[in-house]
Amino acid sequence: MISVSLISLIAYFLCVPLTIIMILWLYDDEKRSFKKVVPTQKTMCECDICLYHFTADKEDKFVRCPQCGNLMERKSAKH
Ligand SMILES: [Zn+2]
Repeated sequence: MISVSLISLIAYFLCVPLTIIMILWLYDDEKRSFKKVVPTQKTMCECDICLYHFTADKEDKFVRCPQCGNLMERKSAKH
């Protein structure tokens, strides 16, 4: 019969779940780094009056703020 000491049994039951958790963690981390960047025709705008940030089409010369309704010339937000 094979004799297994209590210490090695405890070590085994501690190491196996920890190894599984580490593998899953690394796999999840790897999966997260491959996030796709979706190209869009929209750009960020900032309202001159209420400083609300919103997206607008790149082609539009004039945009209307959805927060306060202010019509303004489109310019990209610098921050
Ligand atoms: Zn506004």
